[in-house]
Amino acid sequence: MALMNCPECGKQISDQAESCPNCGWVVPKKQLPEAILLTANPSMFRSNPIGFICSVVLIAAFGLGLVILFVWWLKCKTRTITITNKRTIVREGLISKNTSEILHSHIRNIQVIQGVFDRIFGVGTLAISSAAQSDMELSFSGLAHPEKIKSLIDEHRTQSRNP
Ligand SMILES: [Zn+2]
Repeated sequence: MALMNCPECGKQISDQAESCPNCGWVVPKKQLPEAILLTANPSMFRSNPIGFICSVVLIAAFGLGLVILFVWWLKCKTRTITITNKRTIVREGLISKNTSEILHSHIRNIQVIQGVFDRIFGVGTLAISSAAQSDMELSFSGLAHPEKIKSLIDEHRTQSRNP
């Protein structure tokens, strides 16, 4: 943490501060470095508990369950959602990487979609659309605690809206 001079009142303020505590001058957002707030993968067990149990049973039967679980695990591990203080990024794919992202300031609509079983196991699909498009352009299924992630994004959405 370093100190800098406030351009309004000239007093020393922390470069981590969002505004000057003396005169209220707001540090432009551009000066804040991007920081990762959260990274998550789809939850294997929660998103499909019956499938998970069946696969485990299949291990005992033929060893086939092991293959299913491995492919499934790989799919989950190669799909990542990252929330920073500026944007939401979804990356997928092992060999060919597919990345999509939306700046928090561009978000127009954000939804959590949960079925009955999703609710019981605390998972859901997080869907985000930006001001540019009316349909959901970014969605992430099998996400544990989707409501928490939504409120995290909402928190930074309102921050980035108020200059
Ligand atoms: Zn000041």
